[in-house]
Amino acid sequence: MLSRKTQTPRNEIEKLSERLRELSYLGSAISVLQWDQEVNMPKKGADARAKSISLLAGLVHTQFLNIDRDGLLSGLKKKLEDDRLAPREVTIVRETWRSFERARKLPETFVKAMAELTSKAQNVWQEAREENNFAKFAPYLERMVEKKREEAKLVGYEHSPYDALLDDYEPGATSGELERIFTDLKNFLIPFIAKIKKVSKSIRPYALAESVTFPIEKQVVFNTELAEAMGYDLDAGRIDVSTHPFTTGFHPHDVRFTVRYNVHDPFESIFPTLHEGGHALYDQGLPHEEFGTPLSDAVSLGIHESQSRLWENMVGKSLPFWKRWYPKLKKAFPGAFSASLGEFYKIINTVKPTLIRVDADEVTYNLHIIIRFELEKALIEGTIEVRDLPKLWNERYKEYLGIVPKTDREGVLQDVHWGAGYIGYFPTYALGNLYSAQFWNTAKKHIPKLEEKIAKGDLTILRNWLRTHIHTHGKSFSARDLTLRVTGETLNPDYFSAYLKDKYGPLYGIDTRG
Ligand code: ZN
Repeated sequence: MLSRKTQTPRNEIEKLSERLRELSYLGSAISVLQWDQEVNMPKKGADARAKSISLLAGLVHTQFLNIDRDGLLSGLKKKLEDDRLAPREVTIVRETWRSFERARKLPETFVKAMAELTSKAQNVWQEAREENNFAKFAPYLERMVEKKREEAKLVGYEHSPYDALLDDYEPGATSGELERIFTDLKNFLIPFIAKIKKVSKSIRPYALAESVTFPIEKQVVFNTELAEAMGYDLDAGRIDVSTHPFTTGFHPHDVRFTVRYNVHDPFESIFPTLHEGGHALYDQGLPHEEFGTPLSDAVSLGIHESQSRLWENMVGKSLPFWKRWYPKLKKAFPGAFSASLGEFYKIINTVKPTLIRVDADEVTYNLHIIIRFELEKALIEGTIEVRDLPKLWNERYKEYLGIVPKTDREGVLQDVHWGAGYIGYFPTYALGNLYSAQFWNTAKKHIPKLEEKIAKGDLTILRNWLRTHIHTHGKSFSARDLTLRVTGETLNPDYFSAYLKDKYGPLYGIDTRG
């Protein structure tokens, strides 16, 4: 059927798309340099590489601000307001305008000062963490908070300056909405974890015999087979090694991820393979023919994280999955595993409050995020002071997780985000967990006998479902609308709580009613 709306002359949208595409090719070059920095670069190359990256990034920024030099974008924006664009064009113009407006509001002097502070603050954070010396980092964090408040003011906001920062990572989300969601979640998690704690003594902690080693070559083979089974296209990607695992996409036809290996513990690479693999499937699933435009861009960090967490937790820590993969694991590492499948399943799902966020299990993880969200929001809103952070941090850990860090190194200094200027970023990790449970619930309804299929080794059926319903749409829908389209409702944290109850109730033999 023909749309009643007349299409915008192809050349206008094409002209804009072409400009965006050029910027994306430049952006990809920066990403290659960053990837290389983490994977291959010799230590002494750091300074020269930082200069290359910052020069290119400056170029992209200026070029982007120049995108409306002849009024092309403003003209299209006018058509958008007059409802004269076709759906595909709406996405391109709406999203480009959104980034353009944000970028335009930040003067060059501000951007440069921020880049300098970020690079300095990150270095100081690293030293402060090594020396367990919060006082050393505090003045830089104070300046960072100041700068971030300034950014919020420049960008503009309705209720809280924190919203302006959050919007950069999770467009459309507000701190008010997050507060409601996180309060519910906290009220569920704290007593739930207490119940688990009571009975958890009977569960053998996750530990592998020290005498057994897991040769890295064999881990590589296992992980590669796993990634391929998920549907990760190795002709459009590769897996390398870096200190911190990450995924980067230069184009849907070149999406890479990294893991790291420990000869004493293969799970330090297996779960990151599932996690990063989930991110990578999203980027490989974006429509390549729309490369450069928002139609080939991920919705938000929260939705991106939902893809990694779905594979890592809902799939990768499930019994059906290991029905298929545990025998393979035993075969790959003869003599290393004596536990039965049932015992093994319990071991990989041990729940235990820890001090370090990145080591947290899927039950306690969100509390780590909630603590960071509450503190960073209060910092930006000016209701707490940087100097009080260590004390407040430790108090919250005691209150929510029942443990207190002995040092700031394993407390407030553990994460790079604040030093790197990523304030407003943490909530996207928790949102990812919540979205993943909701998508998983729908996938199980849509795909008959999904878990049986996973147990038989068919993982691509899930990848294809995610591709059709999520990946292929790019930024066509907001996180809210996408979730509504896919699952029939907007974000509902009850799916996550129900998932935990259904899984950990039987696992720990606890009563999950009420
Ligand atoms: Zn992730």
